[in-house]
Amino acid sequence: MIRVGIGYDVHRLAQGRKLILGGVEIPHAAGLEGHSDADVLMHAVCDAVLGALGEPDIGQLFPNTDPRWKNAPSRVFLEEAARRAAARGGRIVNIDATVLAEAPRLAPHIAAMRANVATALGIRSDCVGIKATTNERLGFVGRQEGIAAIAVASVDLPE
Ligand code: MG
Repeated sequence: MIRVGIGYDVHRLAQGRKLILGGVEIPHAAGLEGHSDADVLMHAVCDAVLGALGEPDIGQLFPNTDPRWKNAPSRVFLEEAARRAAARGGRIVNIDATVLAEAPRLAPHIAAMRANVATALGIRSDCVGIKATTNERLGFVGRQEGIAAIAVASVDLPE
């Protein structure tokens, strides 16, 4: 049975933080605030996979009150989502995601992000789609107050 899940996440931009998207450290004047490495793209992908499985979301599995996840690389969250899919006899078919960021330009980093997400999930990178768009200077993304990401996952699960 093919199941789909959706994930959405936002993190606030702040000075003095690294900008990590899809596991890639991207040079920029500000980075994303959060308990973990605040990789908004990996968080959205993680929730999409968990959603397809009908499992609790990232905030429930990895609470930001737990010191274990302080500055944690978000790859570990994806690895856990993939482990849960495999434990159910499932196979992650594909991922598609969009990052909403006014700046910086993400195009040069997309290939590395796809490879990182694919590796963390144990799938081929041609099964991972990642796009980036600006928000046409509108809203909190447009004012560069934060970066958002949205993702869908398709998982083939035994009935
Ligand atoms: Mg998050």
